[in-house]
Amino acid sequence: MSAPIYNFSAGPAVLPAPVLQIVQEELRNYKGSGMSVMELSHRGDLFMAILEETIALFKSLMQIPDNYKVLFVQGGASMQFAMMPLNLAVKGKAAFIDTGVWSSKAIAAAKNSMEVSVIASSKEQNYSLIPDYDLNQLSGDEDFLHITTNNTIYGTRFDKIPELSSIPLIADMSSDILSRPYDVSKFGMIYAGAQKNLGPSGFAVVIIREDLLERSPDTTPAVLNYKTIAANDSMYNTPPTFGIYICKLVLEWVKVQGGVVAMEKINNEKAKLLYDYLDQSSFFRPTVQAPHRSIMNIPFITPSKEWDLQFIQGAEKAGLTQLKGHRTVGGMRASIYNAMPLAGVEALVSFMKQFELTHGNH
Ligand code: PMP
Repeated sequence: MSAPIYNFSAGPAVLPAPVLQIVQEELRNYKGSGMSVMELSHRGDLFMAILEETIALFKSLMQIPDNYKVLFVQGGASMQFAMMPLNLAVKGKAAFIDTGVWSSKAIAAAKNSMEVSVIASSKEQNYSLIPDYDLNQLSGDEDFLHITTNNTIYGTRFDKIPELSSIPLIADMSSDILSRPYDVSKFGMIYAGAQKNLGPSGFAVVIIREDLLERSPDTTPAVLNYKTIAANDSMYNTPPTFGIYICKLVLEWVKVQGGVVAMEKINNEKAKLLYDYLDQSSFFRPTVQAPHRSIMNIPFITPSKEWDLQFIQGAEKAGLTQLKGHRTVGGMRASIYNAMPLAGVEALVSFMKQFELTHGNH
């Protein structure tokens, strides 16, 4: 057996090994159909059962209240940046907390058609923290407040979620959905691109409170219209069938792990292992301080760009792949999503210890 490869990519990201095993076993003959899931009719019984089970799993794992719909929308999280203003604008005003490139892209998309207020931003700190914010800055007539719960590029996350009563809170949870429990009833809408904690790229899951569906104007194109997508149970057009199938298997795997509470416990353990090492190292340094630290994406640096490069190259050779930080931040980033086993983080920390021993006398 060759040594395992651990994939620390920010996304598309590692999938649980048992899920890939099932996909392989079922690939050419799904439940006796003689076909792969890719070839099944999206309106046939076999795929309809997959879709229904996936939705039921989301509902039970995230304890989604009955007055929310779970939708599958092609196009990824960036598509949601465009769909929010097309569906949720009533007064035409939106508020944002700007915590990184992805928030900024959502802001830019909203600015095309809405009046936007950014009530807090950590741009000046290169997004290395979650900024203080004052909800009194909201006028109360905004159509929503948008946050990015976990900032994939910088490794920050909202420790606590803003408590809003007057306007809906919308969250981009692309990089931390199912990694820790969130009280869905505190949100008007949650969305997440699939390629981190849910499955392959190409679609997003949208969890939306039913009353917000009434906002979608008829002038919004049908394929981009939440009301239309919900009325057709995500089958207005051909849904991303294979992606939804893998998502179902991932959710079943999360359930077997013990659900989202158990997932958070394991994630905390993995993150603690790496942060504890980083905090005591005299060579490596974490770039984010508590309480802003993500348990999904952990950026760190060495004393120089040259060492960073050497580290990334050495790690790659040791089977620790995709550790290069985002181009806007530099250094390294270990993305340790739900599917990253503890053994992967242990292997990373032990490689880092070795690297520090041999290169640390700078
Ligand atoms: N939001 C967040 C938090 C992300 O991490 C990403 C992708 N890395 C996106 C949005 C954009 O996702 P997509 O490429 O699926 O449009």
